[in-house]
Amino acid sequence: MSLLDSYAAQLDDLKQHGNLRQFTSNVQQGRYIKIHQHQMLNLASNDYLGLASDTQLHEQFFDETPNQFRVMSASSSRLLTGNFPEYAQLETSLSQAFHERSALLFNSGYHMNIGILPALSDSRTLILADKLVHASMIDGIRLSTAKYVRYRHNDLPHLAQLLKKYHQDDAFDRIIVVTESIFSMDGDETDLAELVQIKRQFSKVMLYVDEAHAIGVRGQQGLGCAEQYGVIDEIDFLVGTFGKALASVGGYLICHAIIRDYLINSMRPLIFSTAQPPICMAWTNFIFQKVLNLNLQRQHLHKISQSLQQVVRAQGFDCPSTSHIVPVIIGESQKTVDKAKQLQQAGFYIMPVRPPTVPKNGSRLRICLTTQITQADLDQLAILL
Ligand SMILES: *Cc1c(COP(=O)(O)O)cnc(C)c1O
Repeated sequence: MSLLDSYAAQLDDLKQHGNLRQFTSNVQQGRYIKIHQHQMLNLASNDYLGLASDTQLHEQFFDETPNQFRVMSASSSRLLTGNFPEYAQLETSLSQAFHERSALLFNSGYHMNIGILPALSDSRTLILADKLVHASMIDGIRLSTAKYVRYRHNDLPHLAQLLKKYHQDDAFDRIIVVTESIFSMDGDETDLAELVQIKRQFSKVMLYVDEAHAIGVRGQQGLGCAEQYGVIDEIDFLVGTFGKALASVGGYLICHAIIRDYLINSMRPLIFSTAQPPICMAWTNFIFQKVLNLNLQRQHLHKISQSLQQVVRAQGFDCPSTSHIVPVIIGESQKTVDKAKQLQQAGFYIMPVRPPTVPKNGSRLRICLTTQITQADLDQLAILL
């Protein structure tokens, strides 16, 4: 038997259950995506504000950025020679927007989530995490030496109950509560005001909130749900990614200055990985300034999101979403794949999401709305759902 046989058997098994993943090459143009010469409306994009596909923005950025500042590699970590001025510029922009709190940048949201939690935790730390947090946070928890307990998805009374139980346990010096604001698969959201109320009752508790799907999209200035709920100063670790609505790449943390200094001295993915190319930092800063002023676009996204949620519910599907991520939960994987194929043939690029990304029997169509989608598009889609 060859060493490859067991891998091949597992791939066969995935295929038989409709769960095999493959790369698909595609060409994107504005609100459309073309796959195998078939053009479809892109309803699977994280480019929530349409900024990544805005070619005029690219031109404006390069016009404003002379050749000598188009530095394509940092060539080392920030602690060695990689600390170009572009990092401090972006961190200063973030600090100014986020009430003068400290900001720290990471190569990606994934790096951020696998790095911060292990650095902050020891064996006297308890992490209480929402059942549905993103894989990157799960991996961060696994890499840490903290004890780890999950609470039922978006069930804050359950969280409060667990906090009461563990807060009096002398085994723990601190408890870190880990959640997302808008959840990537259900499109529902944590009531951050309530979460902060709960935290105030317990002196050992710190909050870690991932705004990957909310940054750019929520709040008057697009600073996320923390801005919308008025709790920017209350979240100990406010994190997000530039890879989605911000049309760039990288992760950020908003925190106390002491935490920032501590992470610079302890966070392995920050210390041992080459920093992002300075030009990416400059581009992120350019985009971030624009995003602060896109409130009309955010309002449009909110309006069409509510409209689609209503359509999905009217068709009899469970729809937990309160955001621009709208799942149509079908259940069985093959049925979901077939439905996605049918919608794609009709010109709507919607992707099926299957286990292990979502729970067993939770296969779904995951519709992601962007500001480039119109009500007329949704009216056409409604007929096909
Ligand atoms: C996409 C995502 C990440 C990862 O961010 P990247 O910058 O793409 O690595 C982290 N957390 C959540 C909730 C995400 O959806």
